[in-house]
Amino acid sequence: MALLLRESVLRELVTMRDLVPLMEQALAAFSRGGVVQPVRSVVAVADHRGFLGLMPAYMSGQEALGLKAVTFYPGNVERRLHTHMATILLLDPETGALQAILDGRLITEMRTAAVSAAATKHLAAITSPVLAFLGAGVQARSHLEALREVCRPEAVQVWSRTRPTAERFAEEMTARFGVTVVVTTTPEDAVEGAGVICTVTSSQTPVLRGAWLQPGVHINAVGASRPDWRELDTAAVVKARLFVDSRAAAVVEAGDFVQPMKEGAITQSHILAEIGEVFAGIHPGRTRPEEITLFKSLGLAVEDVATAQWAYRRALERKVGEELSLH
Ligand code: NDP
Repeated sequence: MALLLRESVLRELVTMRDLVPLMEQALAAFSRGGVVQPVRSVVAVADHRGFLGLMPAYMSGQEALGLKAVTFYPGNVERRLHTHMATILLLDPETGALQAILDGRLITEMRTAAVSAAATKHLAAITSPVLAFLGAGVQARSHLEALREVCRPEAVQVWSRTRPTAERFAEEMTARFGVTVVVTTTPEDAVEGAGVICTVTSSQTPVLRGAWLQPGVHINAVGASRPDWRELDTAAVVKARLFVDSRAAAVVEAGDFVQPMKEGAITQSHILAEIGEVFAGIHPGRTRPEEITLFKSLGLAVEDVATAQWAYRRALERKVGEELSLH
């Protein structure tokens, strides 16, 4: 019998408090070579302006095997549907048998933010920063929740392409966390004085410029997962000490890295380390307070499989989820 774990059940099973250390462990294992994971396959569904990503991983140390199928349809906003949807299959590594089918949308939402929070914990220069968000959708919300696990935000500043999106974010986050959120008219105003900046937009062109960056700032760059899409301009990337989740994926998928490379502004050696090397203590991360650090997140299958396995084990312990058989 396999388990079906719906979003409502996962909400009870998985917390940000669990996920931040879990993601540190998963990415450390990845960067130590303990994970078998190809760069994801992406199918462009051009007729409908969408993408399908296939993301398998095997964690030998954890005995976890699984696959996420994730879709990204930016136009779903007009349909009042989520722009990202996903399903995760967890399999028994010994036999290949199905263990669980999990909603992957919430796991994607949460694990992405947990990884950025872990990166912030290791790379940010200050523990009570002003937080800036460029973008005010699902990831902005989960990032604020996750960042509160690793720092005490002094204030929050947000910009979005359309002001009502940022205003809704501000209203909801103030009600939920009791923080004051200032909505700004420009992205430049949002990052003014910030110690941590999260770029969490579906933009294909830069929203963050190097000219605006102050010494000591840490950036989590979360959007732009296509080689020809960017959230950061070349100056921002050149100025920063760059950490990625996966070197193999960054050189193929991350427009924020690929485009400055194509322009000749940086070389491959601009990637200092994988964030998992920092988590594992192999790389020191930030070495001086005035450095600008940049974590370029693409999202890895190992994050999904590690989270799915954690949720599956908890579900068995708590006897929740629905049993199902495909035979
Ligand atoms: P949402 O659809 O919930 O929010 C999207 C945000 O981007 C909104 O603030 C929207 O602004 C803004 N936006 C949309 N189109 C543009 C544009 N052309 N230019 C500037 N801003 C734009 O998406 P999510 O929060 O779920 O995802 C945000 C980003 O994070 C996406 O790029 C997504 O692919 C990426 N992501 C990355 C993951 C990772 O592991 N690294 C995992 C999951 C998502 P408005 O509403 O004001 O128009």
